[in-house]
Amino acid sequence: MRKKIVAGNWKMNMTLDEGQKLTSEIVNMYKDEALEGVIAVLNPPFPHIFPVKKLIGSIPGIAVGAQNCSDKEAGAYTGEVSAKILASFGVQYVILGHSERREYFKETNELLSEKVKQALANGLIPIFCCGESLEIRTAGTHESNVKFQLTQSLFDLSPEDFSKVVIAYEPIWAIGTGKTATADQAQEMHAALRRHIATKYGKEIANETSILYGGSANPGNAKELFSKPDVDGGLIGGASIKSRDFLDIIKSF
Ligand code: PEP
Repeated sequence: MRKKIVAGNWKMNMTLDEGQKLTSEIVNMYKDEALEGVIAVLNPPFPHIFPVKKLIGSIPGIAVGAQNCSDKEAGAYTGEVSAKILASFGVQYVILGHSERREYFKETNELLSEKVKQALANGLIPIFCCGESLEIRTAGTHESNVKFQLTQSLFDLSPEDFSKVVIAYEPIWAIGTGKTATADQAQEMHAALRRHIATKYGKEIANETSILYGGSANPGNAKELFSKPDVDGGLIGGASIKSRDFLDIIKSF
């Protein structure tokens, strides 16, 4: 059975007080509503990681993730944070290859390949994002585009390492735009990604790989998205910094 995951990407939002309030609300609702079977991952900005981790305590279904890590192991890289440092703070997941980082920070498939390796070497689970722009979708080359992203950044991993990776399909035209992919569009792309993984790593690993959908997911559309056989959860931006919305998305399974 592959893991069901709902990961919240806070992006560059939340002061210390706001982050603590949000986390406490999520933790309390999660406990009160006895949620089981879905892993919730909170991915705050770096300075929140320690206090968020403390507030979560030892609740097994909630984990802390980061939004990025360095491609380097350690050393004179001012402003960077390594996977090793993150792991030492109890971080379990790291979002890599988000389209905002690809666009604004010029992260390439090759650089992401190095980041993925750093994450895995330090015991972090990469949530590897892929997805096409509106131009690519309009041109009809979206499937080959996302397959290429996976091939370039992940397909030199050993089967053992690849099986630890979580994929997030995030069509760029749906991120933060309020324009969600339809459940059928998401299913079509997730199934294509799973088939692509099978060509390299075999059906067993492909069937065990969690593939999340991201792009304007909310409590109103999550149920339909999650009902699709190849959609194993969500990477949630805007709705993840509203505790009730985030919990309702988790409860949509
Ligand atoms: C994201 O940034 O990963 C995301 C899916 O954002 P939103 O849910 O706001 O579209």
